[in-house]
Amino acid sequence: ARPNGPTTHPTTCCYCGVGCGVVVKQELDGRLTVAGDPQHPSNRGQLCSKGMNLHYTVMDQSDRLLYPQMRASRSMPRQHVSWDEALDRTAAVFRTLIQKYGPDAVAFYVSGQCLTEEYYLVNKLIKGFIGSNNIDTNSRLCMSSAVVGYKLTLGEDSVPVCYDDLEAADVFYVQGANPAWCHPIIWRRIEAHKAANPAVKIICVDPRRTDTALSSDLHLPLRPGTDIVLNNALGRILIEEGYLDADFIARRTDGFEAYRAQVMQRTVEEAADLCGLDPEAIRQAATWIGRSKGFLSLWTMGMNQSVVGVNKNLSLIDLHLITGRIGKPGNGPFSLTGQPNAMGGREVGGLANGLPAHRDVTNPTHRAEMEAFWNSPVHIADKPGLTATELFEALADDAQPLKAIWIINTNPLVSLPNTPAVEEALKKARFVVVQDISSRADTVAYADVVLPAAGWLEKEGTMTNAERRITYLPQVLAAPGEALPDAEIIWRFAQKMGFEKAFNYQSTSEVYQEYAQSTLGTNVDVTGVSYALLREKRSVQWPYPAGSHGQGTPRLFTDHRFYTPNGRAQLHAVPDGNASEPTDEDFPLILTTGRLRDQWHTMTKTGRVAKLNQHTPEPFLQLHPQDAAARGIRDGQLVQVTGRRGEVRVKAQLSEDVRPGLCFLPMHWGKLLESTLGRANNLTHSLLDPRSKEPDYKYSAVQVLPY
Ligand code: SF4
Repeated sequence: ARPNGPTTHPTTCCYCGVGCGVVVKQELDGRLTVAGDPQHPSNRGQLCSKGMNLHYTVMDQSDRLLYPQMRASRSMPRQHVSWDEALDRTAAVFRTLIQKYGPDAVAFYVSGQCLTEEYYLVNKLIKGFIGSNNIDTNSRLCMSSAVVGYKLTLGEDSVPVCYDDLEAADVFYVQGANPAWCHPIIWRRIEAHKAANPAVKIICVDPRRTDTALSSDLHLPLRPGTDIVLNNALGRILIEEGYLDADFIARRTDGFEAYRAQVMQRTVEEAADLCGLDPEAIRQAATWIGRSKGFLSLWTMGMNQSVVGVNKNLSLIDLHLITGRIGKPGNGPFSLTGQPNAMGGREVGGLANGLPAHRDVTNPTHRAEMEAFWNSPVHIADKPGLTATELFEALADDAQPLKAIWIINTNPLVSLPNTPAVEEALKKARFVVVQDISSRADTVAYADVVLPAAGWLEKEGTMTNAERRITYLPQVLAAPGEALPDAEIIWRFAQKMGFEKAFNYQSTSEVYQEYAQSTLGTNVDVTGVSYALLREKRSVQWPYPAGSHGQGTPRLFTDHRFYTPNGRAQLHAVPDGNASEPTDEDFPLILTTGRLRDQWHTMTKTGRVAKLNQHTPEPFLQLHPQDAAARGIRDGQLVQVTGRRGEVRVKAQLSEDVRPGLCFLPMHWGKLLESTLGRANNLTHSLLDPRSKEPDYKYSAVQVLPY
């Protein structure tokens, strides 16, 4: 029946991993407004600037992809075709390539924007039915170092804390993160907590003086790449000053002696010198941590996007393990999720090494379990597939079997490192499918087949935020034109590939129920979760096995039994070296990249909102006045930033908020959308952490000169 007044719909913000609850109000004339959901425990009614403007991105349909398009050859324009034509042709090309080069001839590159059900289906298709593990997600670029860090210390990719710990902590150690801009609602909760409890201390570790640094009690502006040196020095002081939890170390951890030997290798003064910090500031931070009742560490890309990202994570989690500050209110290592559903994607196995419920493709028992569960017609491959950057390197390499890629809800031509090489790879690929909502995505230009997807509010499903909270997102609006929900596109395609029975879904609810059953008895057990439950409760935190009550499990490891085989957490003796691209006479400055307050990723959504563009209308290079003076650069002058792979031309913004020798470029702008050549990833490189395969976005060697 037609409503006779405005309708309201509780849902979740589709930007960052804070996962704020949103109430969408739809007027009878179709107009939308959004407000924070006061009932949602993650944000308690608050929204940041991006969340408050969500409705504009939905109501402006000017760039939407409206119908499937296809071209017969690269020299021809794409034509409007039917869904059957687009999916039949794609299935035919995939089958031909698989027949000729094997299952690794095809790949999917997906996104932390995808809903859990969509992630699950693509994984099931390629791993369980095509027989390749060539699927990776842009979450690889964001959190994979934290994933490996958690696995190596706690035994599984499991964030142990919850947002309520924000109000229970008295020392916050924020390293390589700027939550004041990138996780604003979490930061507002911390600020409110500090305002009510002035003794609360905030330590910010960042080579830039960000808004987070400005409102911290202690800013440690360390040299880029020296986080491990700093964390090991903190470990040494905590040991020397007797701030250890000896009982916890003895009964709940392994590896302490090796850890102690490692951190004792440098004096605090040596460490301070390497970090470019005052040793007394390091001692102050250690004292606050040691004396705290609640020690919460928060980190994101400054730690993860590094060639030693896993080691950085280990060195930080070590600090919690030697002090026993985990599994108690207000204590624990809290990796802040970048994307709205990066965690949900990992739960269903969205990384190239994963299988549902945190299973791993290298584990024969896990493979056998999923083959039986899916009734797979093939064996799941026993080696991890290609990761995000590796997929595009393989596409460019004739000797590799990979020939076709299907890109879903992500824009690698702006977001991957070394984008000039990515562009070459897309030109060389035999077949490119792009599934997206927006024609603004730069990658669309290289697509042989374009599939229009339904966007936020136009499809239903679930997401998991940074505190393991699963929220249901209802469909509120019809998708425009012929656009379809991503899950339906995948299951229709799987049917075209000949897997009708296994992909014969009528709803995403069925997909979720299937995934939930695959988690039975695991540490991620969500067999008690259903759409009906989520509609009633709004959200719950996993694990949530059948028979659970209430809101789920806010905090993990409260019994101090970890997910390792022997139940003990593993300390790691972490060498403190860095292996980033070296600077030299030609490229003497270190470039770091990052987000701005009011933009999201490659701006395909936020770039359309005038209010958000006002904050920073164009890209810029933040440069220390000393470095600028040495090059004769004035504030606002156009400069050319040159690296070993490409160049960027933007205006200089002189600021003492960056250290001398360091410059900063926002990550959001692409090449095709803007007249200024501001694509930061022209300059970044493909050096990876060897274990997480996460790129080293925060450290590239460049030169800056007047243009
Ligand atoms: Fe959305 Fe993140 Fe802002 Fe919350 S903090 S409103 S989830 S962008």
